[in-house]
Amino acid sequence: MPRDYYEILGVSRDATLEEIKRAYRQLALKYHPDRNPGDKEAEERFKELAEAYAVLSDPEKRAQYDRYGHAGLRGSGAFAGASPFADINEIFRQFSDIFGADFFGDLFGSPRTGARSSSGQPGSDLRVRLALTLEEIATGAEKRIKLRKYVRCATCSGTGLRPQARAERCPTCQGSGQVRQIARSFFGQVMSIQPCPTCSGEGRIIRDPCPRCSGEGRYRDEVTVTVSIPAGVSEGQYLTLRAEGNAGLRGGPPGDLIVVIEEKEHPLFSRDGADLYYDLFISFPDAALGTEVEIPSLVGPPVRIQIEAGTPPGKLLRIRGKGLPDLQGRGSGDLIVRVHVWVPQKLSSRERQLLEELRRSPNLQPPAEREARKSFFSRLKEAFSL
Ligand SMILES: [Zn+2]
Ligand SMILES: [Zn+2]
Repeated sequence: MPRDYYEILGVSRDATLEEIKRAYRQLALKYHPDRNPGDKEAEERFKELAEAYAVLSDPEKRAQYDRYGHAGLRGSGAFAGASPFADINEIFRQFSDIFGADFFGDLFGSPRTGARSSSGQPGSDLRVRLALTLEEIATGAEKRIKLRKYVRCATCSGTGLRPQARAERCPTCQGSGQVRQIARSFFGQVMSIQPCPTCSGEGRIIRDPCPRCSGEGRYRDEVTVTVSIPAGVSEGQYLTLRAEGNAGLRGGPPGDLIVVIEEKEHPLFSRDGADLYYDLFISFPDAALGTEVEIPSLVGPPVRIQIEAGTPPGKLLRIRGKGLPDLQGRGSGDLIVRVHVWVPQKLSSRERQLLEELRRSPNLQPPAEREARKSFFSRLKEAFSL
């Protein structure tokens, strides 16, 4: 049973449209995916809010909902079947008036969506690759990354001006940063607005530049950035560190630093999602008679497991919870032990003698070809009748 829409938005049943809108904005901001990256619960709340708002902000749907509840909306074409907001992008499309740049842009402070600052140009994003061991992925890690990037000039605080000097208003554009261009065409005069070529759209020019950065307001430097890697990441995923990219030109907003995760190969374990695989080699006598073995684990003490008598090669043994943690914090994967039977390359004469003896034992022969085929087909049939 879906939750009550008024309850979801936290408004009374006689709330005005303004009140509903305000409540929605506030809650949508709180659960906005940009603020809660990777948080599935927040995402669900965000979708739930959109659905509640879609109904209560529409007088007709709201009246239907008030009279008949959720049942009143079924078949009305409003919400037949699944939620129409399974896709978050759909929420942004439908409520663009609420989710416009004026609403979210400023609050999230993204340099590229906000209004262009009157000062310099934005810095570019930086990408770095970060190789992690499986152990680091299992526990999460604090990593220090050394990189060269543009940093804000310390001498002029990014203005590009020599201390005590002042910038001059650009004579070409009179400080507006824009120039109008009029072109004649077949249709008559066409006017376009372009960034000013003299000041690159900044509206001012620097005649007395800062000596340290030559008027750029930034210079290249080697910096160390500390990144917290959550447990459970995988190859190709990336973390965005806002405003840790290149500093902007003459005080422009900085770009982001994008850290792309790489996975180092592990000598013992391979990975499939949250599961780890370990190849265990046992002797034929151990496979036939059964034994107990110790399996190393990625972090923590080794695990003892039983190899049952008659274990065939290729058998997979699952050790629950000894894999990698889930990125969303929902438990851990398993450690899966793949059993191989080790065949020695060299034999002593005593071993040879014993094996020759065993070879003659009928019980050690694989089933006759006919029988093997039969069991193959009956297994096939079973598989398809499932
Ligand atoms: Zn400077
Ligand atoms: Zn200009």
